[in-house]
Parts: sequence; C-alpha cells; structure tokens
Amino acid sequence: MNSNSLNKIKNLINSSNNMLIVSHYDPDGDALGSSIGLYSALKKHQKNCFLYNLDSCPEYLSFLNTEGLINTVKIVDEQIDLIIFLDLNDFERAGDEIQNYMKNYKGDYIVLDHHQNPKIESSNMIIDTNASSTSIIVYKLIEALKIKIDSEIATPLLTGIVTDTSFFKNSNSNSESLDISSKLVDYGGDLNLISSSLNNDKSIKRIEIEKRILNNFIFISDLKLGLSYCTTEDYEDTQTTKEDSEGFSNYLLSHKEIKIGIFIRQIDINEWKISMRSNGYIDLSRLANSFGGGGHKNASGFKYQGDIKNLINEIKDKISYEK
Ligand code: 5GP
Ligand code: MN
Repeated sequence: MNSNSLNKIKNLINSSNNMLIVSHYDPDGDALGSSIGLYSALKKHQKNCFLYNLDSCPEYLSFLNTEGLINTVKIVDEQIDLIIFLDLNDFERAGDEIQNYMKNYKGDYIVLDHHQNPKIESSNMIIDTNASSTSIIVYKLIEALKIKIDSEIATPLLTGIVTDTSFFKNSNSNSESLDISSKLVDYGGDLNLISSSLNNDKSIKRIEIEKRILNNFIFISDLKLGLSYCTTEDYEDTQTTKEDSEGFSNYLLSHKEIKIGIFIRQIDINEWKISMRSNGYIDLSRLANSFGGGGHKNASGFKYQGDIKNLINEIKDKISYEK
C-alpha cells in the first residue's frame, strides 16, 4: 500500500470535521463492516460522521451495530467537508442519489477499495488489489490515525475480512488477512458472534429457494461452468428475497468439476444481476468489465438488460473466448 497516499488521506481526515461514509448499494459484509468500523473509529476520534448506503442493512448482517446508518442523503448535514467512499471504485456503485449530491458538493473525497480496474481518478485514493477486503485498508488507516481499536471497531472490520475471504477459504486470503484478524480478535472482535450469525442463521425458506435454484442448474462441462438462476416468480412463490440466495455462486464452486460458478437473479422484467466466482481459471473481472460491471479476478458481477437466454449464450461465448 502506498504510504504517501495513506499519509495524505490521514491528513485529510484530521483536517476535516463533518464526514459522510458511503459504500456500495446491495452492501455485503465488507461494505458495511468497513463502513461501520470506520464510522465507530472516527466518532471516537471526535469527528462528526454520517453513514450512508442506498440500501438497508441485509438481515444476515443485522448483528452489526448499524446505529447511524441512513438511506437518504437528504437528512445529512449540509456542512459535509469530506466524503469517504468504501469498497467501490466506480461512483455508479454508490447509486444515483449520492451522485446527484456530488454535483453541488464542494468538499474533498477519499476512495478506499480493493477492486481491479478503477473507474475513478483521484490522488486521494487507495486501491490495494492485494488487500483481501476493504476492511484491511480501513484497519491500516485507523492504525495510522492512532485511534484505539475496541470491540465496536474490531467486530465490523473482522466481519468484512471473513465475509470477503469466505472465512479464509478464497484465494484472496493471505497472511495479512490472518495477521490483522488475529489482532482484531485481541482488540475484542467477536468471532463467535460473527460465525454463529453468518453460518447458523438460515431459514427453512432458504431450502425452498435453493430447491428452485438447483432445479434451474446447468453444467457446461467443456467450459467447466456451473450456472443457475432465480426469477422474481421463484422469490415470490417461496416468500424469499435476494438475501436468501446469497452466496450461491460460491456454493457452485464447491463442486470440483466447476471452475466458474455463476448465479443470476432477476431484478425486474428483463433485468438481471449476475454474480460470478472462480479460483483462477479465468479472469472474471475482465468478463464482468466486458458486460459493464466489475470486481476481482475471482469474484465479479454485473447487471444485464434483456432476455436470460441471450444472457446465458453471451456468457458462454465470452467464456469460450477467454479460456
Ligand atoms: P457479488 O457477486 O458478491 O455481488 O460481487 C462480487 C464482486 O464483484 C464484488 O467485489 C463486487 O464489488 C463486484 N461487483 C458485483 N456486481 C458489480 C457491478 O454491477 N458492477 C461492478 N463494478 N462491480 C460489481
Ligand atoms: Mn470488498
């Protein structure tokens, strides 16, 4: 990580008073974990802070203390002098509301992220693609700011690390993630709370939606591709939401013949959200970029408008070309 950028960002935080922390819509454990961890730390650092996300906290992360989390910038103090974007490198990922707010915004902004191919250009930005999660970068920033880490900071940051590494199973796990996690546990990070909340909290409804998704499963052996999808009708019939199908692309990858796991969920009529996982077989950030999305080599995503049959055909064509 570039120490010049870290120093610059540290100075910007020290010289600002009213901050807005923003992470990507459809927040995951790292988006909310890094945001809540930094929010708690900056509050302890005597800063006035707001926490914004276009969406609410998903049920499976409700064990995090989401005090202060808002879904509209309308109630934000107009005196914001620093916006901190976390876990995104494209303003589109923050949603329209904040992009409109930025049009008249005169203050500074910072970006801390770990995804490839940034679409934002700024000197106040740390993009560390070697960091397993944004929470790692936030941890280093909090250390640099000399803020004492307690359980309120440690538990959300630890959540970010374990969710983005799938409890150290993904190939982005490294000694740094283990080392910082160990320190976070020492500081009071509640690993038991995190693992019990994330692993043992599934509802029976989830089995019903999994049955539907498995029914739609397609395996294309020459591409080593396992793909499945879920329609809005499937969600409605089983009274489930997108949260109940969380992690399905990862699950597909747990079968040894599958090297690319793709899960598609319907958002609207002819609108789909695609979640992709691999383990080094092909570069999924390139594949997602070619559809206008983004992410990492082994985990990426995008949105698609059109017919699902065309989508699946396009995916198959592009994977044949990439591999
Ligand atoms: P997930 O499958 O968990 O939704 O996303 C996997 C990774 O791809 C995440 O790191 C996420 O930031 C990125 N990603 C997912 N969807 C999109 C998208 O629509 N646009 C961009 N730029 N990145 C995405
Ligand atoms: Mn992340």
